[in-house]
Amino acid sequence: MVSGTTKNLGVIGWPIAHSLSPAMQAAAIRAAGLDYAYIAMPVRPEALPAAAEGLRSLGFRGFNVTIPHKSAVMELLDEVDEDARRIGAVNTVVNDNGRLSGHNTDVTGFLRGLSRHGVAVRGNRAVVLGAGGAARAVLWGLLREGASDVVVGVRNAPKAKEALSDFAGDAEILPWDCDAFAGALAAADILVNTTPLGMTPKTEEMPPVDWERVRDEAFVYDIIYTPGCTRFLREAKAHGHRVTNGVAMLVGQGAEALSLWTGVRPDEGAMEQALLEALAR
Ligand code: NAP
Repeated sequence: MVSGTTKNLGVIGWPIAHSLSPAMQAAAIRAAGLDYAYIAMPVRPEALPAAAEGLRSLGFRGFNVTIPHKSAVMELLDEVDEDARRIGAVNTVVNDNGRLSGHNTDVTGFLRGLSRHGVAVRGNRAVVLGAGGAARAVLWGLLREGASDVVVGVRNAPKAKEALSDFAGDAEILPWDCDAFAGALAAADILVNTTPLGMTPKTEEMPPVDWERVRDEAFVYDIIYTPGCTRFLREAKAHGHRVTNGVAMLVGQGAEALSLWTGVRPDEGAMEQALLEALAR
């Protein structure tokens, strides 16, 4: 129940009506019996500085940041942590008595999807498909946790090399139709799709993967969460791979954000259930 003591949280983006975060966070807040409220706040790009100042002044305990503000918000904050700096995007802001700090909880969310299945990163070889915004969080997560070798496969290597120039030296970027990439695929312990290929409504699309080349033991991860089982995951399962979709990543990033704001480790089961119900609607 909202009262005079309720502390405020929310998410800013434009548009924001599609956001799944309010349903997920409300479920976590309810399950933990916390005196917090979480709302969706539409913020036009030109209104971002005023919105950040407003949330600071209004004493919001924190807020999530989504498209298109994840990079632009960084210069409006008092500090930005290493994860967010390496990824170049903030998805969570914490307000400590007027001091705003920026974080990126997508890394924790992504790694949660691996740890849930007992998949270790350290010393393992990873192949990442795609080089967009989500790929940066995935790449940084793999590098931070000590993957021995990270190769990024893309359709447009020059563009991806430019976009990921700050990861040069840490990750190799290859066109996904070249022999060197086929070699990397054959050696991979972890294979992650970060492209939108296969996402609703174009569910029959998938990145080009020759499953005959992928080791049986390789763990296959698609960060897409609609549909729950993409063609990429369907084919991986048919070839005997252990797989996961993007639900744990989405829940994990939200759980980490709530934990940063409240100090309470939320019930991820309740969050996941609320997320799946919201997706079904
Ligand atoms: P993005 O910034 O637009 O990046 C997309 C990447 O995929 C780019 O490298 C792009 O290559 C490539 N790509 C797009 N369409 C392609 C096509 N038809 N053929 C080949 N490559 C293609 O997108 P994003 O924000 O990273 O999001 C990517 C996916 O991750 C989305 O499906 C999103 O829902 C999902 N996601 C999930 C979570 C989660 O929590 N589970 C979080 C974030 C994102 P070009 O540069 O050549 O276009």
